[in-house]
Amino acid sequence: MIQRLHRSDLGYSLRSLMENDPAFRPLAYFSMEVGLKESIPTYSGGLGVLAGDILKSAADLGVPMAGVTLLYRKGYFVQEFNADDWQKEKPVQWNPSHELTLLPNRVLINLQGREIQVGVWVYEIIGATGYPLPVYFLDTDFEPNHPDDRKLCWYLYGGDNCYRLCQEFILGVGGLRMLRDLGYMNIETFHLNEGHAGFLTLELMREQGYYDPDKIREQVVFTTHTPVPAGHDYFEFGLIDRVFPAEALSTLRRMMPDVPGVSMTELGLKYSRYVNGVAKKHAEVSNAMFRMETVDWVTNGIHPTTWVSSGMRKLYNRHIPGWEQDPGRLVQALTIPKQDLWAAHQASKLRLFARVLETTGKQLDPEVLTLGFARRAATYKRADLLFSDLKRFMEVAGGNKVQFIFAGKSHPSDNGGKALLQKIRKVARDLEESIPIVFIDNYNMEIASLLTQGVDLWLNTPIRPREASGTSGMKCTMNGIMNFSVLDGWWIEGWIEDVTGWSIGPEPNGETPFEHYDESLDAIDLYNKLERKIIPTYYENHDKWVDMMRHTIALNASFFNTHRVVREYASKAYSIDFRGM
Ligand SMILES: *Cc1c(COP(=O)(O)O)cnc(C)c1O
Repeated sequence: MIQRLHRSDLGYSLRSLMENDPAFRPLAYFSMEVGLKESIPTYSGGLGVLAGDILKSAADLGVPMAGVTLLYRKGYFVQEFNADDWQKEKPVQWNPSHELTLLPNRVLINLQGREIQVGVWVYEIIGATGYPLPVYFLDTDFEPNHPDDRKLCWYLYGGDNCYRLCQEFILGVGGLRMLRDLGYMNIETFHLNEGHAGFLTLELMREQGYYDPDKIREQVVFTTHTPVPAGHDYFEFGLIDRVFPAEALSTLRRMMPDVPGVSMTELGLKYSRYVNGVAKKHAEVSNAMFRMETVDWVTNGIHPTTWVSSGMRKLYNRHIPGWEQDPGRLVQALTIPKQDLWAAHQASKLRLFARVLETTGKQLDPEVLTLGFARRAATYKRADLLFSDLKRFMEVAGGNKVQFIFAGKSHPSDNGGKALLQKIRKVARDLEESIPIVFIDNYNMEIASLLTQGVDLWLNTPIRPREASGTSGMKCTMNGIMNFSVLDGWWIEGWIEDVTGWSIGPEPNGETPFEHYDESLDAIDLYNKLERKIIPTYYENHDKWVDMMRHTIALNASFFNTHRVVREYASKAYSIDFRGM
């Protein structure tokens, strides 16, 4: 196979020629959003950041992959609040040409009866050993496209269902056409990161020239990401009829017969040779939901050098040489001297507190136990669980024993999420005198990085089992920060009580989504553990606390990273053996 030749067998010049030749890249990774860095604001949350982290690890490991996504000229949004603490969205101002290179390639697609030219920008990730990995951002904002079509790639998760349908056609069909135009003629595996790019199967069928779904299936791998219904796109055929060109429409009707509309998840499940969820529990829940038995799992991870603090990185380099190439070596973290680890941690904490002071005017105390909570303000994540019994909360956390930092964006049309944010901000003001609670606006990769390096403990309180995996807690483990979390997603696999952190609420049973369970149990347990275990350990048993930090690195960071994720995809999903990886 091509990739067998790829690394060590070849002379350098031939190797570098091949590295730049699309014909030698057999893997394409499609994602509606990709989060590479703060200055490319084409992501909204975990899905995009995961995609970026996977592509970065693939580059580090020399995996011959290319990424495909859309260019959002207006980004997701900048978060602001009005006087009533209600979230307001402002468009992001950014100039793609500062970060990306516009290529001359154009391909044609047809939507809503109009021809559209799709263009492409490229960003090249350079891996740790110099291996380049291109990420392609599709764009339609060009002459001579119709003004409405020029806006099709402006907003991430904006617009109506028709807008979204057009975007997904551009991503799947336009994306594959563009790859061919760029010279990618030997792709063996198309990896769909969530169902959004599923229409690429239509283009594969068109290229093939005859109807044989098995041959399409052989080329596609699908990762499903959420057990929450809003995460699964659905398009009525009534809409698709109006939007799609005739050939794509008839192929789609043949591929998805006897249904009134297309669920992108069902399309992905039906036309992929391998399907996985993003944690063990999530695979179980997905199998139950889709009435299948074949959904496998590859538990998510995070890209080590993106999320590690500079202080921790130096420490690991000194004590665990080679960890950047092989983060599995972090199992050696127990050899790191405790006082050095604590000093590196406090440095990150001070950096975070400086930012808090700068942006909110609030001065936090670096000697006080600090809990962080930051994620999309989706209601199932229950950012307000902490405040469900304020009297008890004050009893446990009052008296300057604990301080809290919150951040998070709500989707612009999710009023439930906005109400959550409003509540947090109001409670923060009401309790100002007794418990320091700060809210940092405009959660993004940069704020995520400051928080997951600088707090003492990471709080996570989703309604089980709706958190497919979660990744912000993994970013913490890369910095030796423990998790205090409901047993859901990745934490079921990473949790060892009193060793890598603490659980909240009962242990998981055979539950499926949307089953009723007693949420108040989670809140009671949260307060009790904070009071009886966590606060005493932090203040009275510092030695144990820092030892738990080392175990978090050794037992969690060593595993929940995207180097391990990419290797797992290579062996389980791509079925290829990359020598030298
Ligand atoms: C890591 C990250 C997320 C994902 O966090 P979860 O814990 O999975 O909810 C979301 N948004 C940003 C900006 C991130 O960096």
